[in-house]
Amino acid sequence: MADDLYERYMATDRARVEHTDTCTTCTTESRCTAGLALFETFSRLQDAYLRRQRSKSSG
Ligand SMILES: [Zn+2]
Repeated sequence: MADDLYERYMATDRARVEHTDTCTTCTTESRCTAGLALFETFSRLQDAYLRRQRSKSSG
């Protein structure tokens, strides 16, 4: 069974890292609009993924 959430979480992480590497606006302290959107999507997916892992291990 394909783990869609994990795939999306990893893909977003890659996109976020690639963006930060190539974007001249993004720094560790501030992000451009696109960088911020990627970071927010990444945070949301990471949160959902970690929450699922927790509920899986306790159940
Ligand atoms: Zn950027």
